[in-house]
Amino acid sequence: MHTLRASKYGLSIKQLPPSILEVIDALTKAGYQAYIVGGGVRDLMLGLHPKDFDAVTNATPAQVKEVFGRRCRIIGRRFELAHVYVGRDLIEVATFRAPPKKAVTSALGMILRDNNWGTIEQDFARRDFSINAMYYQPRQGVILDFCNAIDDVKSKTLRLLGEPKLRFEEDPVRMLRTLRFAAKLNFSIAPEILDVFTPEMTQLLRDISPHRLYDESQKLFTMGHLQRVLPLLIEFGLWKQLFAEVSPDVTAFVALAAKNTDQRIQVGKTINPAFFYAVLLWRNFQERTEFYLAKGVVAAEARAQAGLDVLKRQSTRTIIPRFAETFIREVWEMQTRLLSPKPQQIESLAGHARFRAGFDFLLLREKSGDDTTQGMGQWWEAYQDMTIDQKEVAISQYNRQRAKTRRKPRTEDVEVDTVIAPLVAEAAPTRSRRSRNKSAQAPVRSTANTAVSNADGVDANHPILKRKRVQRDLSQVIFGPTQ
Ligand code: ATP
Ligand code: MG
Repeated sequence: MHTLRASKYGLSIKQLPPSILEVIDALTKAGYQAYIVGGGVRDLMLGLHPKDFDAVTNATPAQVKEVFGRRCRIIGRRFELAHVYVGRDLIEVATFRAPPKKAVTSALGMILRDNNWGTIEQDFARRDFSINAMYYQPRQGVILDFCNAIDDVKSKTLRLLGEPKLRFEEDPVRMLRTLRFAAKLNFSIAPEILDVFTPEMTQLLRDISPHRLYDESQKLFTMGHLQRVLPLLIEFGLWKQLFAEVSPDVTAFVALAAKNTDQRIQVGKTINPAFFYAVLLWRNFQERTEFYLAKGVVAAEARAQAGLDVLKRQSTRTIIPRFAETFIREVWEMQTRLLSPKPQQIESLAGHARFRAGFDFLLLREKSGDDTTQGMGQWWEAYQDMTIDQKEVAISQYNRQRAKTRRKPRTEDVEVDTVIAPLVAEAAPTRSRRSRNKSAQAPVRSTANTAVSNADGVDANHPILKRKRVQRDLSQVIFGPTQ
């Protein structure tokens, strides 16, 4: 074990938020050992800005609770931890862990329960990468390095502690972490890891709960290096495990959205990881919508059902929380709204809660060469910067343009034009009673479609009519009137 002088590596107490110091100090005062460990130390060593600081101690979670009282909550079952609240910060305090006992390991070698307390030496050996296993005692100004992690910091190498094959088998999520850190830190992956990073090994991710994989996917999307990690995920075959249905070619749209996400993070803007999910699954959503349309399902219902289907299939890999699913479907639905808005709805659409995300999405599509947006991305972009008078002019121009296209004599489409133009009228559950009565005979989408056989434009045998849930869930996809 080497004791490094923190100041020699550019670390100082001044870089630390008061909250982590308070936790370290309180534990020390109570007679326990306490260190900062993990990503915080690693990032400081690399001159990066850590996103948070985790603490580790020889106090058990119950003892940590004794020290911090009501400011502490013990969480987790498989991996028990103390959460300590200091002001607005939350500090995660872990207890030194010893190797897990045999009885809590699955048949495949995966650790199921992991609350066997131990010494700092045992704790270090349990961590994933050497660079994540440095222990920093800020008051003493020292870093404990048990494995020459400092050499890996210097040579920018990602090295797993212990035998890589075993470490991946114990916790297959470490494969994802490998690619995440390689991309985030711009490190190379040690050859002995590459040796075991086989397609068979990546299959082990199937045993990981879709909840945990969603959390990991979020970290991948929000670390600021999506552009770098996407090709790695594909190359190493982890893509298939995370997004079974998404084609592993990075489309121009996905590439641009990744670039845009990274840039937003770089300038400190917030990002919603669900937005990138919406991007990734967009093509699947469109294909699925086409599938329903071809069966003669009314457009709004086709989109709603397609959205449900695509998200349901994705949930076998990563379980997207309900609110994020709703967000994704709203962004998709917004695409239709923004593409051909009713002139009188333009202003309220621009003030809609989902406008910003929907518009960003539309513009990214357009900028990546998707001409089905018909230039509406640019139109909305310009619209937002206009004065009230300019907006009026723009809307009437848009209106004229719209009327012109609609008046074009497209013989077989005439009926379609008059019927589908108002998007809101497609939104059955949110229509006013009056418009619902008025359009009771209306929402037939395509006259060319022979499958259409009843007044709603859907084949009476179509499964969509047999699934009550669809109707209920539609209310989440289609917006009510804008406030
Ligand atoms: P960041 O927070 O920047 O994403 P991190 O290294 O802090 O990176 P966390 O997930 O916050 O990552 O974990 C904190 C520390 O806990 C890690 O640095 C590592 O030492 C240990 N750790 C986390 N996950 C694992 C794992 N799956 N296997 C072994 N050790 C882990
Ligand atoms: Mg961390």
